[in-house]
Amino acid sequence: MKTYRIATIPGDGIGKEVIPAGERILEALATSENTFAFECENFDWGGDYYRRHGVMMPTDGLKALLDKDAILFGSAGDPHIPDHVTLWGLRLKICQGLDQYANVRPTRILPGIDAPLKRCAAHDLNWVIVRENTEGEYSGVGGRMHQGHPIEVATDLSLMTRAGVERIHRYAFRLAQSRPRKLLTVITKSNAQRHAMVMWDEIAAEIAKEFPDVKWEKELVDAATARMVNRPASLDTIVATNLHADILSDLAAALAGSMGIAPTGNINPERAYPSMFEPIHGSAFDIMGKGIANPVGTFWSVVMLLEHLGELEAAARVMLAIEHVTADPALHTADLGGNATTAMVTEAVCAQIASTA
Ligand code: ATP
Ligand code: MG
Repeated sequence: MKTYRIATIPGDGIGKEVIPAGERILEALATSENTFAFECENFDWGGDYYRRHGVMMPTDGLKALLDKDAILFGSAGDPHIPDHVTLWGLRLKICQGLDQYANVRPTRILPGIDAPLKRCAAHDLNWVIVRENTEGEYSGVGGRMHQGHPIEVATDLSLMTRAGVERIHRYAFRLAQSRPRKLLTVITKSNAQRHAMVMWDEIAAEIAKEFPDVKWEKELVDAATARMVNRPASLDTIVATNLHADILSDLAAALAGSMGIAPTGNINPERAYPSMFEPIHGSAFDIMGKGIANPVGTFWSVVMLLEHLGELEAAARVMLAIEHVTADPALHTADLGGNATTAMVTEAVCAQIASTA
C-alpha cells in the first residue's frame, strides 16, 4: 500500500481549525479507499513560533519539507505581528524556497451556494486563475532611504525574468489545453507599464505558437475585473502576474460566494520540490476559536492535493462529497449565511466519503 507523506502547517488563526479538519478528510478517505495511506507530520510554524523564536519558521525549516509528497497549509497572519513579516517569514519563504512558481486557483459556484452574481448561471463561472508566484511585483526588490524625513523615498521593483515569464505562460497554456474550452486570457497592463509588461505580452505570443489549438487573447487587468462581473462565461483559464492575479482571485472567490470556499495550489510543475495546497482565506482572527470557520476551502485544497498526487478518482470522490454537503443549507457556515459549525461540515463530508466507498 502506498503511503503519502504530507506536511501539515496550520499556521495562525482559523488555520489551526481548518487544517485538522482537512486531516480528518484524508483519514476518512484513506479508511474508505484502503489502497493508500497518509503519514502527516505537523509543523507548528507561525505567529506563536515567532513569539518564542523571533522567526516564523526555523531558518533551515525548508529541509524538513523536502521529502514530503505534498504540503497542506492553513494561513499566516497575526494581529500582533506586521503582515509583511508573517507573509515573507513563512508562506512566501516556502513558495519561493520550493520554487512553487505556479499558483493555481480554480473557481466555480458550488451547488447550494448563493453567489452575488444573480443573473449568472452557476455553470457560467468556471475559471482557473494561474498566478505567477515567485517574482514580479512581489520579488521583494526595493528599498527605503531617509526613513521619516521629508526627503524619504521608497521603491518596490517589479522584477520579471524571461525564464520566469516563459515558464508561467507555458504552464498556463498547457493547463488551458487540458480544459474543454482550450481558452486562455493573458492579463496585462502593458499600456501603462511599458517594460516588463510588454515583455510579458511578447513572451505570451511566443509561447502561444507551441499551442496552436489554444485560443488566446490579451486583456487589461482593469478591464478584466469588469468582465469577470459582466461576462463571466467569456473567461476560462486566466494567467496573470503575482499582484494582478492576487487581486483577481479574491474577486473570483467573492463572486463564487465566499472567501471560505476557495482553494489554491502552489505548484512546482517539475516536481523537483513538493507543492503546497491551502485555502485562499487568511487567519480571520475575528472568528478564531468559535468553531465556525468554513472548512470547505481546505477540503477543496485537499482535492487539488489528491489530483497532484495522481489520485484522480479519490479527488473526484472528495469533490462530490463536498458538493453534496454545500447543497444542503443546513450545513452552511456563518460566512454563507448559515449556522453550521466547522465540525458539522467536516463530519458531513466524512460521512459522505464513507457512504460512497
Ligand atoms: P489575513 O490578514 O491573513 O488575510 P484576514 O483576517 O484578513 O486574514 P481574510 O481571509 O482576508 O482574513 O478574510 C476576511 C474575513 O472573511 C475574515 O475576517 C472572516 O470574517 C471571513 N472569513 C475568511 N475566511 C473564512 C472562513 N474560512 N470561514 C468563515 N469566514 C471566513
Ligand atoms: Mg485579508
